[in-house]
Amino acid sequence: MNDLQKEYDNCWSVFSTYFPHLTKPKLVIKKLKTTWGRCGGGYISLNKKLENVRKVDFVRHVIYHEMSHLLQPNHKKEFYDVLKLFDPLQLQENKKFTKRIDAFRAIAEQAKTIENESITEENC
Ligand SMILES: [Zn+2]
Repeated sequence: MNDLQKEYDNCWSVFSTYFPHLTKPKLVIKKLKTTWGRCGGGYISLNKKLENVRKVDFVRHVIYHEMSHLLQPNHKKEFYDVLKLFDPLQLQENKKFTKRIDAFRAIAEQAKTIENESITEENC
């Protein structure tokens, strides 16, 4: 079972380093019917069901999502620009993406070497 208060406090200590002017909203853990979290009126509410979610990164994703709403109430690009700095799910994606880029680069490098070799051969 996830300790939502602990996760929330940990996320806040990271988030507030970047935005020290923000006041920490109070955490409310309750049953929410249609959403994982909510932000407003000095509170962040988290769905009680998150206590039983296995993937703790998802819990952190929801927490950072709600915290990002402290800066951007809507889901415009600026909102996701903030969220992606903290969101562990996105960071994982970024890592995968970087890995893919690295793989492409390696292939491209190899291709270049082969190209160079064949050119050299031709030149000889
Ligand atoms: Zn939202």
